[in-house]
Amino acid sequence: MNEHEILKAIRAKQPVCRTPRIVLGIGDDAAIYRPRSGEDLVFTTDMMHEGRHFLPDYPPDAVGWKALARSLSDLAAMGARPQFALLSLALGPGVGAEWVEGVAQGFASLAARSHTVLAGGDLSRAGHSCLEVMACGSVPKGCALRRDGARPGDRIFVSGRLGGGQLGLERPDMPGARQRHLRPQPRLLLGELLRTRGLVSSMMDLSDGLSIDLERLLLASGVAARLSGRLPRYPGATEQQALHGGDDYELLFTVGPGRSVPHSLAGTRLTHIGDVASGSPGQITFRGDALRAQGWDHFRDAS
Ligand SMILES: [Mg+2]
Repeated sequence: MNEHEILKAIRAKQPVCRTPRIVLGIGDDAAIYRPRSGEDLVFTTDMMHEGRHFLPDYPPDAVGWKALARSLSDLAAMGARPQFALLSLALGPGVGAEWVEGVAQGFASLAARSHTVLAGGDLSRAGHSCLEVMACGSVPKGCALRRDGARPGDRIFVSGRLGGGQLGLERPDMPGARQRHLRPQPRLLLGELLRTRGLVSSMMDLSDGLSIDLERLLLASGVAARLSGRLPRYPGATEQQALHGGDDYELLFTVGPGRSVPHSLAGTRLTHIGDVASGSPGQITFRGDALRAQGWDHFRDAS
């Protein structure tokens, strides 16, 4: 397969682009996006490396799906609606046409569901396979949801159930959890609804684990948290997996006092798991004891 053939294979899988905002898509030196007045554009980029984020035996369509899902989950966390994505793909040794077509298929199926246009990208060979997805979303000007707005007295919520992503990593024989690990569902509709309802004082997505992601939100907001111990667990997941496991791609958010939060929104359960407190920024207590953040941190053990 040469570069032209790989590009053709990727483009053939993508849904037809019908948005007038992509003035120019794949095929030129760069894409052109024409923003609407009164909107802010939200950008994120995520890398997925073979051996670190996925293994050679993962179904290629799951690799393509998940690479896009990770970036879309970040857009969901800002309350943004996806507009377009750029995909940079490095092919490791031994990776051929079938793998590329599978990756393109998985990417395209999530792109179609989320109305995300693949507007361009890059291709290369490398020592191992890697995908990098840059995604752009839009929100009404000044309305993006951020991590830094939590205040003492706010309640802390999570969407869905936790620990399924980690369970699916450890137990490939459990199909439901495995599916969650391989093909996570970014909470795009929920993120937008939470934004439009004006409920949220801060929000982020759970990619690396509740404890470490909550710590990041608390540090950004300069506050502490008390978790009550009522965590909504994915069926079969342990408390440790719910607290520290990565790959759930649920939303973690805080809500100011006096605002009522529905039990579910966009078909997704919302659970009150604790409260924001004043105190040392980033500190978490869980059932009264200090909790050490232990999720996925690429650099934690690096010397
Ligand atoms: Mg994130």
